[in-house]
Amino acid sequence: MIPVTEAVRIVVERTEPLGAERVALAEALGRVLASDVFADTDLPPFDRAQMDGYAVRSADVRETPARLRVVGEAAAGSGWRGTLQAGEAVRIMTGAPLPKGADSVQQVEVTREEEDGSVVSIERATEPGQFYITRASEIREGERVLEAGEEINAARMAVLASFGYASVPVRRRPRAAVLATGTELVQVGEKPGEDQIRDSNSYSLAAYAQLAGAVVERLPFAGDDPELLRREIEQAAARADMLVLSGGVSMGRYDFTKAALHALGAETFFERVALRPGKPTVFARLPRGTLVFGLPGNPVSVSVTFNLFARTALRVMQGVPRPEPFEERAVLARPAKGAAERASYLPAALSTDSDGRLLAEPLKWGGSSDFVAFARAAALVVVPAGVKLAEAGSVVKVVRLPG
Ligand code: AMP
Ligand code: MG
Repeated sequence: MIPVTEAVRIVVERTEPLGAERVALAEALGRVLASDVFADTDLPPFDRAQMDGYAVRSADVRETPARLRVVGEAAAGSGWRGTLQAGEAVRIMTGAPLPKGADSVQQVEVTREEEDGSVVSIERATEPGQFYITRASEIREGERVLEAGEEINAARMAVLASFGYASVPVRRRPRAAVLATGTELVQVGEKPGEDQIRDSNSYSLAAYAQLAGAVVERLPFAGDDPELLRREIEQAAARADMLVLSGGVSMGRYDFTKAALHALGAETFFERVALRPGKPTVFARLPRGTLVFGLPGNPVSVSVTFNLFARTALRVMQGVPRPEPFEERAVLARPAKGAAERASYLPAALSTDSDGRLLAEPLKWGGSSDFVAFARAAALVVVPAGVKLAEAGSVVKVVRLPG
């Protein structure tokens, strides 16, 4: 049995980042950048008015009211091409380039146009530099604006668009195949007969894999048939970067996953983790490179082990700089039971107290098959191995669940 942190380390070590590809900007949301992104222009690209009003020379409006001749107009997208002379003003709109000769903008609210717009009275003085943003004061051409490994979110879409990234270099999305084992399983659309249950794991696993950036395929059930299981694994491995199996990794008579992997020549990196729930988790690699996670079938075990291990591997594949589960600290709102030899990862709700501290409240649940209670969990509370009881009020590590 190896500690959870060691298992995570092995996952990171044994997983290779996937190659890069280019996608259209509109398709890039949620993808991970494969290279750094650079500015191809200054921002702003010209001295840009920040107000609607008049571009003026501050020297002309030291004494107010100052009457200036309106010699033109500058709008966003169509500037005024002349040079402002003494005693002149140009009507200007937000986003327009500041005309040559002007050193400031006065907002329209403290001005008054006279004589059919040919003269403006400026009622308040300006400072040089007022109400416009200097060219390149935000970003200089050639500057790095995003880094490889950053996930493209809505705000980063704007950055990519502004610097002309009509297509974006991203990591290829991992292809994950999800395979449920167990003779007891029926499809969601069926009514379970005696001794049967509906398959829920392949849906939660597919969802978690999608949330981690994978393109997911759900394979037909393998039952508890060693031959079928072997065949399905072999076929899926030809097209998948990762295979996620649910069930069949315990010590029962019908737990055939490890035997199937062995028959296919897989290299096993670990098969017992000091984790509760999730001890019999298997991590292996098939001869052609497909990674395999064999997760214990209990619905909560499946979710916990996927998010600790398989999600980490999907993040490594996409070149995320810190792929491992992100640990935060929280105050325990209620005592949590630990175990002698295994770290416990217990479902918990999160909130904040009046001092703004993160609170974790372990859920009342019926163990690793209680997926209904688990559905209300926002995070997992970590109780280290050997800690019998983590007291209410103590500070614990928590790992947020995605989605
Ligand atoms: P196993 O790991 O195969 O021993 O399964 C452990 C428990 O999880 C058993 O009670 C199974 O019925 C249940 N289980 C296995 N696979 C699934 C699944 N796909 N959906 C829901 N429950 C499952
Ligand atoms: Mg089973």
